[in-house]
Amino acid sequence: MTINLHAIDCDVHPTVPGMKALLPYLDDYWRDSVEERGIGSLESISYPPNSPLTARDEWRGTGGLAGTDVTQLSETVFGRFGSSLAICNCLYGVQLVFAEDMARAFTRALNDWIVKEWLDKDARLRASIVVPLQNIEYAVDEIERCASDRRFVQVLVLAMEEAPLGRRSNWPVYAAAERHGLPLGVHAGSAYRHPVTSLGWPSYYIEDYAAQAQGFQSQLTSLIAEGVFAKFPSLKVVLMESGVTWLPGFLWRFSKFWRGLRTEVPWVDRPPDEIVRDHVRLTVQPFDVPEDSEAAERAIEHLRSDDILLFASDYPHWQFDGDEAMPKAIPRALYRKILVDNPLATYPRLKEAVR
Ligand code: ZN
Repeated sequence: MTINLHAIDCDVHPTVPGMKALLPYLDDYWRDSVEERGIGSLESISYPPNSPLTARDEWRGTGGLAGTDVTQLSETVFGRFGSSLAICNCLYGVQLVFAEDMARAFTRALNDWIVKEWLDKDARLRASIVVPLQNIEYAVDEIERCASDRRFVQVLVLAMEEAPLGRRSNWPVYAAAERHGLPLGVHAGSAYRHPVTSLGWPSYYIEDYAAQAQGFQSQLTSLIAEGVFAKFPSLKVVLMESGVTWLPGFLWRFSKFWRGLRTEVPWVDRPPDEIVRDHVRLTVQPFDVPEDSEAAERAIEHLRSDDILLFASDYPHWQFDGDEAMPKAIPRALYRKILVDNPLATYPRLKEAVR
């Protein structure tokens, strides 16, 4: 099917209305387990349903949830925001489960639910494969199981999982992702195996939200220092909801220390800022730059590449008001790259939809 080429929204969030919705996608054993144990929901703790950031009020429906209805999501993302394609990233707390077999069962059900309830209902939707990193073998199996459906365009993990993402135990996931032409999407959120700040557990949601940037920084350090991009030269990593302005200062520091300590990590054979420009992309909502275009131009200049930013509305999360999902401060000269060219260059499978 050919779709007219317009914007590509790289981060939208269908919401699972509750565990009941996944029951048809579980086998008898797990369906009975959910019912007998009374497992009601695995809502993402990172996006508690009543938090104002979780959804704009106007998009909330039954029970205060938003993003549960494919027609409403499509009308907003394709109608009001004017995109042509959108990537669904489902955040449903399956990463929080401790039992590996349960994590596998719920993750499989989640990916099958996405196919039947979303992708099959609107040809403009694409999705990320959610993987149970609790068990790497299961995570690879899930990529292999889903990858033959070309509407899956990415592998999705959270910014804070059980172990740093660069660790070698995770590499089979990257091998599978690279083999199938799937970038690794790292979305804000935590499996809550560790405190979300490096100092310990915070008291308030606002601290958790602000601390995500630290998580992204540590993951980027881990992926580069452990040599993931040397081992998997075609792998792209997309940081979603990470914000943007932390990156230049962080890369300056990381590259400075690399110059002094690179004998420790000889496989990091060029400065980290160069590796990031080749392998790492960031979505533009939330865009943590003032609405003054000079400041935005400077911030983008500091990233030292026009290729690095990807358009995303983050629907239904409340990152902006009105219908202009593209941050106002972004220079118009970059629209075409951020809305279309950069997403197509990042996600090989999207090209099939716009041929
Ligand atoms: Zn998001």
